[in-house]
Amino acid sequence: MRSSFKTNNMASSPATDLSSTQAQVRSWRRAGERVGFVPTMGALHEGHLSLIRAARAHCDRVVVSVYVNEKQFGANEDLGTYPRQPETDRQLAEAEGADQVWLAKGEEVYPPGFSVAINMQGPGQGFEAVDRPDFFGGIATVVARLFGLIQPDLAAFGEKDFQQLAVIRQLVKDLALPIEILSCPLVRDHDGLALSSRNVYLQGEDRARALGLPTALVRACNTYAEGNRDVAMIVAAGTQVLAAHELDCAYFSLVDPETLRPLSGTVAPGTQARILAAVRCGSVRLIDNCALDDPPWR
Ligand code: AMP
Repeated sequence: MRSSFKTNNMASSPATDLSSTQAQVRSWRRAGERVGFVPTMGALHEGHLSLIRAARAHCDRVVVSVYVNEKQFGANEDLGTYPRQPETDRQLAEAEGADQVWLAKGEEVYPPGFSVAINMQGPGQGFEAVDRPDFFGGIATVVARLFGLIQPDLAAFGEKDFQQLAVIRQLVKDLALPIEILSCPLVRDHDGLALSSRNVYLQGEDRARALGLPTALVRACNTYAEGNRDVAMIVAAGTQVLAAHELDCAYFSLVDPETLRPLSGTVAPGTQARILAAVRCGSVRLIDNCALDDPPWR
């Protein structure tokens, strides 16, 4: 009886709680292994899986966390309806080579009495923060907490969330956290739309109209590639495409990729520039970005 129970128990799913995750990480560290970390909010897609592969390429072990962080949602946002599929996520992450999946519980991330709320200045201002003033503070708070709990050597983040990546880099620098940040290229759907867990919200014609966003990036990049260096004209080329697709533009800006400061006037030779864009498509907010000299497609 006893041994049969044990066999069944061993065949069941691996533990996905915090203390098991921390025990795993401690044992890997004792063995001198390098630990990579991929924090996510779940509903995993190819973009997330590319982060797991990238972390794997740089580390001996990879931990993936799944947690929908309530602190980064505003009062009228989609916290309640955000897609959740923890068991599927665990299977997807493990199939991609994750050694440990932490399906985080609220009380593990924010135990009773948790009192820290980080306020992000610098790259945490403007763009995504304009309509959501607490957004990057919520992200910085959860990421700092996750880093403290997991203590990885490296953490992988996607360029899909370009401003978030700048915020995390600033957080790690300002708090002197001994963690390497690996930035990973944005992954697109077959037609060019940036993959996002929220794309499942795009209904009917909205899915086709959403393509106006990467198309606008391409048009702006092409305008630059044709020799136009005027920031306002490059931006106008993009926003015209957004308007033609009836997308409500929140911002479409050329920025310095390090500081995220908006460029103005003309793009000087040798300048690194990034286009950051956000639109509303029906009820769905979409973000996208690319380097000015590297359009989503040519
Ligand atoms: P999320 O689950 O949306 O919080 O995203 C978790 C991580 O996956 C973040 O570092 C995102 O930037 C990254 N990510 C999300 N979508 C993509 C994508 N299409 N390409 C690359 N990385 C992505």
